[in-house]
Amino acid sequence: VEAAVVAAIGSVAPGRGLPVGVATAGVVDPRTGRVTGVNVAWADHPLRERLSLLLSGPVAVENDANAAAWAEYRFGAGRGSTSLVMITVGTGLGAGLVLGGRLAAGARGLAAEVGHVPLVPDGRPCPCGLRGCWERYVSGTALTAEATRLGPAWLPADPSAVGRAVLAAARAGDADGLALIAEQGCRLGEGLATLTALLDPDVVIVGGGLAAAGELLLGPARARLAEALSPVLRRSLPRVVAAELGAEAGVVGAADVARTAVRRADPPGR
Ligand SMILES: [Zn+2]
Repeated sequence: VEAAVVAAIGSVAPGRGLPVGVATAGVVDPRTGRVTGVNVAWADHPLRERLSLLLSGPVAVENDANAAAWAEYRFGAGRGSTSLVMITVGTGLGAGLVLGGRLAAGARGLAAEVGHVPLVPDGRPCPCGLRGCWERYVSGTALTAEATRLGPAWLPADPSAVGRAVLAAARAGDADGLALIAEQGCRLGEGLATLTALLDPDVVIVGGGLAAAGELLLGPARARLAEALSPVLRRSLPRVVAAELGAEAGVVGAADVARTAVRRADPPGR
């Protein structure tokens, strides 16, 4: 992988020593830039160190969800905010946090790993070993499972096509399609209530494939978020909006993190 990164960078930037940002799946240790995979086959892999040696320059390594959150904060739906939560609803459920104008990764890079936070006591079993994880209720995987269980006439045989079929049905006003998306939105809002109570963000940004449902998803999410918060906190509801940057958000965010880190390290007056 490192060789591929070095080759890709060589093809766009012939100069050496330029800051490079990398967005990767997996848990990234914020101090060391070591990566441990969930969906990548790395265990405590010294990615930052190895790329820094190969490229002879500064390298920033960020988890892809965190990098996307940073991109939305700087250039997308989170511009002008102070603290934001970005939720990415893809195959699973990921998140990134910017708190007080800084990317918050936590002590070990695990701060925003929200997919396996329990949402429903004794709920649906999860491959992680727990029950009722948020991701079992809000994700492409959850949507596909629920649609299959409901079995509407328009359900495609190919499981990988179910998510798109639900979106199309909901947009066309089909009651089953709308209910499936609204259920995802409702469960999204429920989890967001916990995050809002804990973090008090100005804005919650929803990205990933399911965000294409727009207001069909975000409307129920906002309503449930408001209901699920203690009345004392209702006055400070965050805005809940769709992501503005697309699939490249992770790349943009990682690059900007690298650039910002180099600027901070520069002596004043340069
Ligand atoms: Zn789980």
